[in-house]
Amino acid sequence: MRIDLHCHSTASDGTDTPAELVRNAAAAGLDVVALTDHDTTRGHAEAIAALPSGLTLVTGAELSCRIGGVGMHMLAYLFDPEEPALLAERELVRDDRVPRARAMVAKLNELGVPVAWEQVARIAGEGSVGRPHVAAALVELGVVPTVGDAFTQDWLADGGRAYAEKHETDPFEAIRLVKGAGGVTVFAHPAADKRGRTVPESVIAELSAAGLDGIEVDHMDHDADTRGRLRGLAKDLGLLVTGSSDYHGSRKTCELGEYTTDPEVYAEITRRATGAFPVPGTGGA
Ligand SMILES: [Zn+2]
Ligand SMILES: [Zn+2]
Repeated sequence: MRIDLHCHSTASDGTDTPAELVRNAAAAGLDVVALTDHDTTRGHAEAIAALPSGLTLVTGAELSCRIGGVGMHMLAYLFDPEEPALLAERELVRDDRVPRARAMVAKLNELGVPVAWEQVARIAGEGSVGRPHVAAALVELGVVPTVGDAFTQDWLADGGRAYAEKHETDPFEAIRLVKGAGGVTVFAHPAADKRGRTVPESVIAELSAAGLDGIEVDHMDHDADTRGRLRGLAKDLGLLVTGSSDYHGSRKTCELGEYTTDPEVYAEITRRATGAFPVPGTGGA
């Protein structure tokens, strides 16, 4: 039984549509695949409709979290997608772009820069508004000569005077919300240091005490030593160990099923979940 519990589709930053993803998962010989797009469940319906017989879909999401200034990802499985508190949090993370840009405009106004929200919105046009559009407004106003000059501590660089953080969920809150929606949590690629700073083991222990179910150990961003260390940590803390491809279609090199999860661990995840059930394929559309 081959089980891959971490895959992305075009519902977030993957390149396969949800329907293509499940067809490709079946073609790759998988028995179980999880669809875990960033902060959204919007690909689930299409994946279920296209699900080939012989393949089971685990519904999920990968939640953007932050603790102590360190970004981290939390996989959430088999939660009730309609549960209001978790749904509101996903929307807050996803829809944070406009409030964040507005917060930067407000900070600039406090600093005496007469930038207007309408100006930033006009520059962004059809695109989703972000920090570069605020920077372009500063150039228009003659505050800085170039967009690059706006990305300093004086203005919009991380931690700068007019910088506003993205909303990301506290992982303890994520665990609480996912459990409240009947789901199971697995800390994604916890030691992927290529992506930046990682969460210390002491915090993983605290998350475990707060109800974290597992950690993703077998992942392309972990070398053999790291996997060994994480396996030991999971054993000490009584955490489940998963493995998965973190497939993004052609955007990353990892193939579907390149890393997999032990069937006993999968059975335990489904046993703990009460918010949703794995969906067996019926042939697909
Ligand atoms: Zn991730
Ligand atoms: Zn991912």
